[in-house]
Amino acid sequence: MPCYNEEENVSLFYEECKKTFENKDMLIEIVFINDGSKDDTIDELNKLEAEKNYAIKIINFSRNFGKEAAMYAGLKRTTGDYVVIIDADLQQKPELILKMLEIIDNNDDYDCVCYYQEKRRENKLISFFKKIFYRIMTKMSDVEFVNGASDFRLFKRYVVNAILSLEEKNRFSKGIFSWVGFKTYYIPYTPEDRVYGKSSFNFRSLFKYAISGILSFSIAPLRIATYSGLLFSLIAFIYMIIVIVQKIFFTIDVPGYATLLSCVLLIGGLILFCLGIIGDYIARIYIETKNRPIYIEKEYIQKEHLNDEES
Ligand code: UDP
Ligand code: MG
Repeated sequence: MPCYNEEENVSLFYEECKKTFENKDMLIEIVFINDGSKDDTIDELNKLEAEKNYAIKIINFSRNFGKEAAMYAGLKRTTGDYVVIIDADLQQKPELILKMLEIIDNNDDYDCVCYYQEKRRENKLISFFKKIFYRIMTKMSDVEFVNGASDFRLFKRYVVNAILSLEEKNRFSKGIFSWVGFKTYYIPYTPEDRVYGKSSFNFRSLFKYAISGILSFSIAPLRIATYSGLLFSLIAFIYMIIVIVQKIFFTIDVPGYATLLSCVLLIGGLILFCLGIIGDYIARIYIETKNRPIYIEKEYIQKEHLNDEES
């Protein structure tokens, strides 16, 4: 469970979890990742660890590394046969995990279960762009992206191991989850309202995330240069013939200043645009080759199953 500024939510979440799994015949561990919160999330987590008899693991990041890094760190610390990623803000109710478990236990050929939002309850404009994004992504890359698929997922152990084997720094989890393959069962759900705090993602950060997703999972943008180059060469060639024919058989009376200027500007713009795309890919190669860790742990606290009847 990645937590960024969730001080009011973590203990509520813990109680919900306890209620959900009480008297269930299974061992539960909760892995909290404090992703460099600016509020007192870590104190709240430490309180839980001190007071409660539940297997709790707390990963405290040295700064905010982002939800992607937090999910990776959390998955790395899990030990269960089944692993669930869930948000801290109670938009995804812990009791929905029981449904996931039921599905995975009754459908042997499935390896993951994923909740997706059938109807998005957010801003119309954002959900419109999200829909377009998923469509473009599926067209552009080799993996399939399901519109509305959330990070609220359950994996079997071997799927988690597969996800962890992808050690790229620019992590785009939705792509990674599809890329590793395996059979996923999709269930529709409607997320609740956030209990406390506000969402960390606004239009700008979602746009950046979308671009990062495209660059991580597709090289199609690089082909813009090739195809537009070919197209413009063809146009130029045809135009050249027209000009030569004009020159030989007619007289050219207009100096063509406007045409010339617009062509230069258009093609200049296109070249810069393509250079920018290539630059973006190079920047990613640069970041990957530095091989920095995905996150840095400041501390790691682990509390074993003290009281099994609680879990
Ligand atoms: N989160 C995180 N690091 C961040 C931003 C968010 O760990 O830099 C966590 C956050 O605490 C929450 C989950 O990721 O548990 C989803 O975040 P949020 O609720 O802000 O996103 P939304 O539900 O609007 O997609
Ligand atoms: Mg949320």
